[in-house]
Amino acid sequence: MAIQRNILLIYTGGTIGMVKDYETNALRAFDFRQILENIPELKHLDCHIDSYSFESPIDSSNMNTFYFVQIAEVIEKRYNEYDGFVVLTGSDTMSYTSSMISFMLENLSKPVIFTGSQLPIGYLRTDAKENLITSIEIASAYEDDEPIVSEVCLYFEYKLYRANRTTKLSAEQFEAFASMNYPPLVESGVHLHFNKSLLLKSKESDLIVRKKLVTDIAILKLFPGISKNVVESILSTPDLKGVILETYGAGNALTEEWFINLLSEAIQSGVHIVNITQCVGGSVIMGHYETSTRLKYIGVIDGRDMTTESAVAKLMYLLGVGLEKEEFVYYFQKSLRGEISNQ
Ligand code: ASP
Repeated sequence: MAIQRNILLIYTGGTIGMVKDYETNALRAFDFRQILENIPELKHLDCHIDSYSFESPIDSSNMNTFYFVQIAEVIEKRYNEYDGFVVLTGSDTMSYTSSMISFMLENLSKPVIFTGSQLPIGYLRTDAKENLITSIEIASAYEDDEPIVSEVCLYFEYKLYRANRTTKLSAEQFEAFASMNYPPLVESGVHLHFNKSLLLKSKESDLIVRKKLVTDIAILKLFPGISKNVVESILSTPDLKGVILETYGAGNALTEEWFINLLSEAIQSGVHIVNITQCVGGSVIMGHYETSTRLKYIGVIDGRDMTTESAVAKLMYLLGVGLEKEEFVYYFQKSLRGEISNQ
C-alpha cells in the first residue's frame, strides 16, 4: 500500500483566498480556514494536509524580504515533518517570491510548489481548485520513497514550471504565467506527465536556509530617449550595491559616451551591474552586436537568459553572501538553482 504523504499548505494571501467587500467593491483577503471549507475535495486526496497561515494574509503587492524570510522559516522549521510544501501567494509577485525562495533554500530535497489563482476560490468559475488540487498531488508524488520533484516550482493552469524561470504575463488569462526559456516540468492532462529529464536532482546534503538578503538594488529599464538625469540619479542612489540593466533584444544598449561613462564609474565604485534582456524569451549575448560590446568591456555582468524576477532574487541573495567581486561575477553567471542556461 502506498504511504500517505504529509503536505503542509502555507497560505500567505492573494486572490485565491479573497472575498468581495460589497461596500467598497474591492477584493480583500479572508480567513484561511474558509479555503478548506470551500474545497471539500481536499479531504479526498490521498495525503494528509496541514495548513499554516500568515496571521494577516497579504495582497502579494505587499510582498517583501520580511515575508520571504517568514515563508522560508516555516519550511525550515517543519522540513522534517512534511514530504512536500504548497505555498499559496498572490500571482502578481509570485514569480519574484518563488524565485527568491528557490535561492534561499539550498540543498532542497523536497517539493515546494507555489500556486494561486486568477479568480477567488469562492467564485463559480474559479481556477483555484484545479491549481490547488494538482499542486498538492505533485507535492505528494513520490516514487521508490523519493519525491519526483525536489525543487521550487510554480503551478498554474495545467503546467508546473521551475519557479525561477517564470514571469507573469497576463492579468486576464487563467494561463497567467510563462517560462519562455525552460520547458514545463509537469503537464497535467488526464494524467500528470512528469518531464523527468528536466528536473533538478535531489540534494544529499542538509537543507541550508539563506536569510540574509540585501535590498540595495535597482532595476534600470532602458527606453529610447532615456535621459542622463534619470540614469545618473538611479546610479547615485545611496548604498546602491546592484543594478539590473534591462536592455533591448540580445542585451543591447545605447552607446552614447555619457551612458557608458556613468555605468563604468558605478562599476568601478563597486556596484554590480547585470545585463538582463527586456524580452520575455531568448538570451543576452554580450558582444553579439556592437551595442553590447562596450558593456562587456566595462565589466557589466552577463545575465544571459535569466528573467528579471530571478535576477532580482539572485542579486539580493548573492549580495547577502558577501562575496568578492570576482566570485560574485562567477556565481551570478553560474546556474545555482537551474535559473540560467549553460552556455
Ligand atoms: N493582487 C493579487 C495578489 O497578487 C492577485 C492574485 O492573487 O492573483 O495578491
